[in-house]
Amino acid sequence: MYYTPLISALLQMFLSRYGFLRPVNWEEMLLDDGEETDKPHDPHFVSALRDFQKLSGLPVTGVLDEATKDAMNKPRCGVPDKPSPKLFDIARRKRHLAALVSKSHARKRREVGGHVAFSKGLLRWRLIGEGYSSQLSVEEQRYVFRLAFRMWSEICPLEFTEDNASPLEEIDIRLGFGTGRHLGCKQRFDGSGREFAHAWFLGDIHFDDDEHFTGSSAGSGISLLKVAVHEIGHVLGLPHIYRPGSIMQPSYRPHESGFEVDWMDRKAIQSLYGGCKGRFDTVFDWVRRERSPRGDVLIRFNTYFMRQGWYWLYENRNNRTRFGDPVSLQSGEQQEKRDPDGRSYPRPISEGFPGSPDGNIYFFKGRQVYAFSVDSNRLARGFPRPLRSVFPALDPQDHPESGLDAAYFSYTHNALFLLKDTRFWRVTGARERRTEPRLQKNTLLPHREIDQQWFDICNVHPTALRLHP
Ligand SMILES: [Zn+2]
Ligand SMILES: [Zn+2]
Repeated sequence: MYYTPLISALLQMFLSRYGFLRPVNWEEMLLDDGEETDKPHDPHFVSALRDFQKLSGLPVTGVLDEATKDAMNKPRCGVPDKPSPKLFDIARRKRHLAALVSKSHARKRREVGGHVAFSKGLLRWRLIGEGYSSQLSVEEQRYVFRLAFRMWSEICPLEFTEDNASPLEEIDIRLGFGTGRHLGCKQRFDGSGREFAHAWFLGDIHFDDDEHFTGSSAGSGISLLKVAVHEIGHVLGLPHIYRPGSIMQPSYRPHESGFEVDWMDRKAIQSLYGGCKGRFDTVFDWVRRERSPRGDVLIRFNTYFMRQGWYWLYENRNNRTRFGDPVSLQSGEQQEKRDPDGRSYPRPISEGFPGSPDGNIYFFKGRQVYAFSVDSNRLARGFPRPLRSVFPALDPQDHPESGLDAAYFSYTHNALFLLKDTRFWRVTGARERRTEPRLQKNTLLPHREIDQQWFDICNVHPTALRLHP
């Protein structure tokens, strides 16, 4: 294959800049270093081109065909596809400094598969004053970034807060726009087209203000929200992910408008920071009747997890919380204060409440279970009884003993769960006892962690609860 000297130089620059020829120590590299690299006829070069084609989902031809040219000219992130292992050394140093600055938030070190991660749970960010975009109002830029940080916070244990008051060196993530040489950065932006932003692991994010970024309102151009979510992913420790739908793909995908952080991205960030653990005040399925367009009565339900005045609506079908949760109870959906008979709520528990599958309402208190008979309007005979005798454990060593946080009957699983701290115990039902007759009634299966069954129920920082443009 013959390339003109110009094409071959550009091709070489592309492949070496993004780490295909050899891993790039990008944080130390200067763009205009005239470093000698392999030539287009060199086997190294062909294999680098093939790597790029493979990662980009193109036919692997090893030559610069039209499809490959198109892919190379797409708007993309400036972070190399194959960063040097040294990058992680730098990141490690930075993380160490970050830990020293904020000992109060220091967490266990995390290092997974050679990747590093922040060692604290609350991260401060700021859009720096000398780095405002000339294209969007400052309010709109800050709004987009608040939203972008919140999207990560909703799926991992990290919390983010905008901090415009502390000294700059205490800010974990500084964001800014610039053109060409910018913000004292080692890297240079390339004008309009191709590279639109770059980020440092556990560091700062720069956006190329020569690009046409769009804010929350849709339009042609590059969505600042998508780019910000991608670059924050790098700051948190994620490399590029070559999977359709991932926000960490190196090239910008314009098509989807309302996007979410997908399954693979969630798993990637959780491999660095773990899942979201926490205890709940109460969990329930809100069951209601609805009429279908054909007039049939349908039973519908939504699952709500509640904790300290916040709630999450859990989408059982997708096995995760609704996008945009948690919501503060105060600002949530308008709650009905009256039932269909016109009685107002809240009312004392002693007045009783309607509906229960076996005519009893069960109350859990300390080590005891109380069954209240709705029909006779008093404590059922034989109660209270110890939790252990009503709910024996399959493994006697594995029992919550007392002080449950919640008892939750799930219509999705058609089973009762007892919740305490970050754990749950599933209560076996009639179906299990038919297949395993030796099981006693209400036997508790060994505990599991709540976040292993219900995914991504994550706190956000209180400052990120309500977002306004
Ligand atoms: Zn990137
Ligand atoms: Zn920069």
